[in-house]
Amino acid sequence: SLLVIGSANADLVTAVDRHPAAGETVLGSDLDTHPGGKGANQAVAAARLGARTALLARVGDDAHGRLLLESQRAAGVDTSGVRVGGAPTGVALIAVGPSGDNTIVVSPGANHRLSPQDVASAGELLAAAEVVSLQLEIPPETVAASVRAAAAARTRVVLNPSPPAPLPPDVLAACDPLVLNEHEAEYLLGATADGRSPAEWAEALLALGPRSVVVTLGASGALVATPGTSHHVPAPPVEAVDTTGAGDAFTGALAWRLSLGDSLEQAARFAVRVAATSVTRRGAQTSYPTAADLT
Ligand code: ADP
Repeated sequence: SLLVIGSANADLVTAVDRHPAAGETVLGSDLDTHPGGKGANQAVAAARLGARTALLARVGDDAHGRLLLESQRAAGVDTSGVRVGGAPTGVALIAVGPSGDNTIVVSPGANHRLSPQDVASAGELLAAAEVVSLQLEIPPETVAASVRAAAAARTRVVLNPSPPAPLPPDVLAACDPLVLNEHEAEYLLGATADGRSPAEWAEALLALGPRSVVVTLGASGALVATPGTSHHVPAPPVEAVDTTGAGDAFTGALAWRLSLGDSLEQAARFAVRVAATSVTRRGAQTSYPTAADLT
């Protein structure tokens, strides 16, 4: 089975004619409230495809927390690892401008209270998982504790360094793969990324220590690399409507297929189909396909 350890947010979305300047108030459209957060998205993406999936996360004892638990359960995710309380549920306040340009304020709330102790007390979930999938919207010490616990249990670690942040060498070394988009790759590589191709990025990223690397390339698909090998996996051509949460769909699908024993390249070939389907529909979790929806 797959264990996702990560964030759960309520996305509060309103459309504005223009973004407010400091000290200013503008009126927005009626509020849309969606379940989101990278961890919650990945878990839903995998479970909708049929994966046995559990989520280890923290939400507040509030209406947003109940919305998130409900959306996880509706997708079939095991929520026994979702801790409740300690702070309000994480929220993303999203203002969408007329040309789709977003301004976003994130209040991490309960996500930043997910602790190494919460991971230590989830030993059964960890023991049941073949793959643990992580992102960086929870405290860095919780990511590190999770990766170390997974490594000790010989459980495979998939990590998406988003939002980008520095990673300790032993955390990087456990990633198999490190999954990242071009922006995250540029962050980790710094000036060495300039003027280089995705294949060269993958090689430079492997030099940082992960066992394997997957660079997602939007409409171009993904690049899959291990030391000495690199394969481009094209994305199926689709009419993209909304790419929100595409990276999370990709990573959730990839992590699940790895847990079933697929090779990295096989898993990536499946994940690009899932992510391509997700960009043809609006929203994040609402856009995620079931196995029957895949072409
Ligand atoms: P992120 O969503 O994290 O910015 P990408 O833009 O690289 O990451 O998208 C993640 C994955 O979603 C891609 O690897 C690809 O499989 C799929 N995808 C994204 N945009 C498109 C598109 N326009 N057409 C087909 N697939 C897409």
